[in-house]
Amino acid sequence: MNDTVQRPDISVVVPVFNEGANLGPLAARLVPALERAGVTFEVIFIDDGSHDESLARLKALCATEPRFRALSFSRNFGKEIAIAAGLDEARGAAAVIMDSDLQHPPEVIPQFIEKWRAGYKNVFGQRADRATDPKLRTVFTGLFYRLLEKVGDVSLPPGAGDFRLLDRQAVDALLSMRERARFNKGLYAWIGFSTIGVPFDVEARASGESKFDFTRLARFALDGLLSFSSMPLMIWTYVGLVISVFALGMAGYYWVRTMLFGVDTPGFPTLVVSIAFFSGVQLLSLGVLGEYIGRIFNEVKGRPLYLVAERIEGAGGDAAKMD
Ligand code: UDP
Ligand code: MG
Repeated sequence: MNDTVQRPDISVVVPVFNEGANLGPLAARLVPALERAGVTFEVIFIDDGSHDESLARLKALCATEPRFRALSFSRNFGKEIAIAAGLDEARGAAAVIMDSDLQHPPEVIPQFIEKWRAGYKNVFGQRADRATDPKLRTVFTGLFYRLLEKVGDVSLPPGAGDFRLLDRQAVDALLSMRERARFNKGLYAWIGFSTIGVPFDVEARASGESKFDFTRLARFALDGLLSFSSMPLMIWTYVGLVISVFALGMAGYYWVRTMLFGVDTPGFPTLVVSIAFFSGVQLLSLGVLGEYIGRIFNEVKGRPLYLVAERIEGAGGDAAKMD
């Protein structure tokens, strides 16, 4: 095998979860776009435990194209982990990450490569708007990113997502972080390197539905917030402080009222209300602790990020050539 195949210019990493109908059309647009850019490339599909015909389609595609290969996970590990696996496999001088539902137009990749050749190491596709997203999702997403901007350790460029090109140096930096609760958008920003956006229009999903329902998005948002901010932990210091000052004030008020003015203080309502209030505050802060401790527990168990059930080589390839 010659050297250019061993170390292609670009490794395209594509996470796939139940996208059977989209894979053919994606391949048909991706290959010409990359060829037009005049680069050597490989495409790595990560089948994230699909239970439709995705894996069969990937096998068929790989059988016709030596530059394609695929990994199939033993179960669904989530998009963030699938991307990490793809980057683990990538051998290219740069990696391009893109969705498999054609929301990320392959025709933009040559522009990414241009920026990369101009010296940028972290080139992100910048979506102009969220017109293709459901309205309610847009509202919550907006709120979440504003919150993260306020309390998080990273500043995310507006409109940046997973569709991007990363230089080998940036890929290696990302891979050095083996955290299990992965929030890629935060990680891309955290690693730094010379960063630039390339505007693109998000297309409508080619077929099927978004895999991110409300619960999944909420989980994802929580991972992002807790991975990049310790504010939810610290805030209780201030809440505690404010409540203590308030309680002291209340004590003074009742003392003055009873001792100086002889007004009776009925105990029942004040007791019930304050007990309920403080129990609530305490459980809430315990819950926040629990969220962090659960994540610490997950990390210290040291389980592998993902398990591969099957490797599919491109046409004419064999498992031995993957070092
Ligand atoms: N995806 C994945 N694993 C999952 C969920 C999604 O690999 O558990 C892939 C999916 O196949 C697609 C990409 O991640 O290529 C983005 O998913 P989707 O289009 O559902 O998300 P949205 O575009 O709505 O954010
Ligand atoms: Mg999508």
